[in-house]
Amino acid sequence: MNNHAATVEILKENDVRVTPQRLAVVDYLEENHIHPSAEMIFQAIKPRFPSLSLATVYNTLDVLERAGKVLKISIAGNPKVYFEYNTDFHCHFYCKKCFKLYDIFIEYPYEYLKVIEDHKIEETNIHFKGTCKDCINNSTSTDLQ
Ligand SMILES: [Zn+2]
Ligand SMILES: [Zn+2]
Repeated sequence: MNNHAATVEILKENDVRVTPQRLAVVDYLEENHIHPSAEMIFQAIKPRFPSLSLATVYNTLDVLERAGKVLKISIAGNPKVYFEYNTDFHCHFYCKKCFKLYDIFIEYPYEYLKVIEDHKIEETNIHFKGTCKDCINNSTSTDLQ
């Protein structure tokens, strides 16, 4: 369940003051399914809230992440951290050229497994890497070699 009211409730439960700035962070995540960085969210909201600090964006994301509402995605070799509302299980395709993350919805047979070979599974992250279709279409074939 990803409704706005439930998310606001999480902020309250964590003793985080529900300010218009923090609500704007929640709204941004709800409305923009583009795996934004904290910096991107900050830049997008800042014009409406000149007093907004990047720290507020980070700590709002942090509370929501600990409550399992927001996913934090990092890709080895890229210092950028991507955020998204926790939606149904999906994988990601990461473009090594433009560094965009795409949602990939494929059937993953082990999604509901809690234990594999006696190891307890707490999260499953699947990232495919390569060149996205936009980058393929924007380059000549020699660029891709
Ligand atoms: Zn790309
Ligand atoms: Zn995603």
